[in-house]
Amino acid sequence: RLSQILENQPSLPSLAPLEVIEKFRLEKELHQALKQDEFVLFYQPIVCTQNAKIVGFEALIRWQHPRRGWVTPIEFIPLAEETGLIQLIGDWVLRQACQQLEIWQEQFPLDSSLKMSVNLSTLQLSDPQLSLRVQQIVQQTHLNPKSLQLEITETAFLENSPIAIANLQNLKQQGVYLHIDDFGTGYSSLSRLQDWPIDVLKIDNSFVRTGKWNMIQAILMLAQSLNVEVIAEGVETEQDWVQLQQLGCPYLQGYLFSRPVDSQAATLLIAAEQLT
Ligand code: C2E
Ligand code: CA
Ligand code: CA
Ligand code: CA
Repeated sequence: RLSQILENQPSLPSLAPLEVIEKFRLEKELHQALKQDEFVLFYQPIVCTQNAKIVGFEALIRWQHPRRGWVTPIEFIPLAEETGLIQLIGDWVLRQACQQLEIWQEQFPLDSSLKMSVNLSTLQLSDPQLSLRVQQIVQQTHLNPKSLQLEITETAFLENSPIAIANLQNLKQQGVYLHIDDFGTGYSSLSRLQDWPIDVLKIDNSFVRTGKWNMIQAILMLAQSLNVEVIAEGVETEQDWVQLQQLGCPYLQGYLFSRPVDSQAATLLIAAEQLT
């Protein structure tokens, strides 16, 4: 009864004790979720713009809540960051994503160049143990560190703490690839960009969504002078794809090719490609 009442409450802008209770409950449930194995990774293909071949997947977390149903990361990642639980969840994501890639590389030896992208939160980046733990997970799952790509938002890069910088350098030394996520939304200065050990700019999906083709072209030129690759996110229509092809954007990701799907469906996508 109480839970029904709570869930049917519209969220109030101020005070809202119910919201506080709700947040408290969610936090408790988040702790349980790890123990009870309620998190699931979905995978969205990243494809080559010219020939639509799958070059890798981005792992995206979902929470299969026993009562609430599917909960999206925007609904719980901020709380996980606030409570510090993101460290444990982040470790789980890394291990799970690496294990999945190892399975695919064994299952599809022809596709051993397949890569896995994992999102890191700012908090994980400022954990002094991060690079060591990544190293351990990569070793335990027998992956080549070059198969792993870590996505870090532009905003996280901009925080620039000494620990974060040490982590980035250490990860780079291991051979792990570093991607700037949501690029174009964080006001990086050009000189700072040059100092970061990055390999890929992921153009924030707002650029494709609003058709800012001239800006995308400028980012492509910038990437070329930095000698880094580019992935365009949020490609939903064929026109978007054709535009990116004409601009020479090498990789893309979006609902048009595939939504994020569970591991079984992702396996079928890889298998289907082997047949063609
Ligand atoms: P993100 O890293 O920018 O991930 C891309 C988001 O765009 C995903 O939402 C994806 O489902 C969605 N997307 C993909 N293609 C399209 C498209 O064509 N159109 C539109 N409109 N959206 C598209 P999702 O899965 O809900 O994740 C939201 C955010 O949550 C992610 O944004 C990321 O910041 C965070 N997140 C997800 N998984 C993790 C995780 O394992 N760890 C951390 N720290 N954050 C995560
Ligand atoms: Ca991402
Ligand atoms: Ca993104
Ligand atoms: Ca985003």
